[in-house]
Amino acid sequence: MSLREVKGTCPECKRTLIRRSPVPLIAVCDCYLYCDICGAELTPYTPDLNPRAYRDEKNIDPLGLADRNEASVATLYVCYNHVPPHYSGQEPVEVLLE
Ligand SMILES: [Zn+2]
Ligand SMILES: [Zn+2]
Repeated sequence: MSLREVKGTCPECKRTLIRRSPVPLIAVCDCYLYCDICGAELTPYTPDLNPRAYRDEKNIDPLGLADRNEASVATLYVCYNHVPPHYSGQEPVEVLLE
């Protein structure tokens, strides 16, 4: 079996991924690892499950929880190059290359 080029386009970043493979394959695009604003590598975000961590200073309700903060339970990565930090909920994108 000979290797051939298989390719596919990531629906998120529109980049074309190319691998050499004898068969179609699923590749994971790494765009989820990078900030979509500045391109820096994102830092994995560890949710602080203490509700106080999500308190909005402008809100009197101390148990405002995540929905009053940009970071939420869906936050997977964060870029600290921005004020406020840029939170990303982007998950790895699987791209079919064929
Ligand atoms: Zn991508
Ligand atoms: Zn950034």
